[in-house]
Amino acid sequence: MDLGLKDRVVVVTGGSSGIGLAAVRVFLEDGARVAFCARGIERLEVVAAELADEFGADRVLARAFSVLDADAVAGFAGDVQATFGGCDALVTNAGQGRVSTFEDTSDADWREELELKFFSQLHPIRAFQAMLRESEAGAIVAVNSLLALQPEPHMVCTSAARAGLQNLLKSLATELAPHIRVNSILLGLVDSAQWQRRFDARDDPSQSRDEWYDALARTKKIPLGRLGQPSEPARAIAFLASPAASYITGAKLEISGGVSRFA
Ligand code: NDP
Repeated sequence: MDLGLKDRVVVVTGGSSGIGLAAVRVFLEDGARVAFCARGIERLEVVAAELADEFGADRVLARAFSVLDADAVAGFAGDVQATFGGCDALVTNAGQGRVSTFEDTSDADWREELELKFFSQLHPIRAFQAMLRESEAGAIVAVNSLLALQPEPHMVCTSAARAGLQNLLKSLATELAPHIRVNSILLGLVDSAQWQRRFDARDDPSQSRDEWYDALARTKKIPLGRLGQPSEPARAIAFLASPAASYITGAKLEISGGVSRFA
């Protein structure tokens, strides 16, 4: 199926690693021009150079900043406008989860987590809204988590923030229609830098990577028996961001290997 992404302009936040990087690759492979950001400049520059080599420097734009810095996000939107002339799709992916129970989450932790989960979406959406409105195929795909609907006690503030975000996205799907479609993906466990960090900090250093990941999949009772690979949500992101999904808005797509417990 042709997704209709050729020559479209796509922006991906958090594009230097994991799911965001896999999404950047899928968009480039499908012929789009892609702008992406991350905070860490070293990894960003390495990734951007590799992608420019493979797909052409005129199709890749990378900038280092935090999506929590509204001025920096606005500056990035200006660069995208100046370089590519507009924006057809925005993927709000930047972020990470926080492992903590109610007992060990301080007020400062709550504020930090709520700020990350909401403003990592609000700043880019505000900054790119006018360009997305101008596009004939404007679309936002927000990367969210199954925790939004299925909270986990060991990730209490991330779960609550994810639920609030899902609610916000539904409102935006109505407010930004009919010009901009707004959809989300709900992730289960996907192998990325986040899980690599948790593997590196494992209790039993004698456990191999395969053993640790297999045990994790068993503990989490993932019906497909494994964690997802970043390319798997990336393909779903590309579909929802593309003109091929032209009649889909306000929807959520679960990408979790079947781990949800609701019908
Ligand atoms: P990775 O850590 O592999 O990638 C995260 C990317 O986001 C990196 O490029 C990182 O670069 C960037 N980033 C993080 N914070 C910021 C920020 N404030 N401003 C700009 N860029 C930022 O993680 P994943 O691919 O796993 O995560 C992608 C999204 O999916 C996250 O929002 C995460 O919470 C969510 N998610 C992931 C799950 C999983 O199992 N993998 C499960 C549920 C949700 P840098 O650090 O240099 O800024």
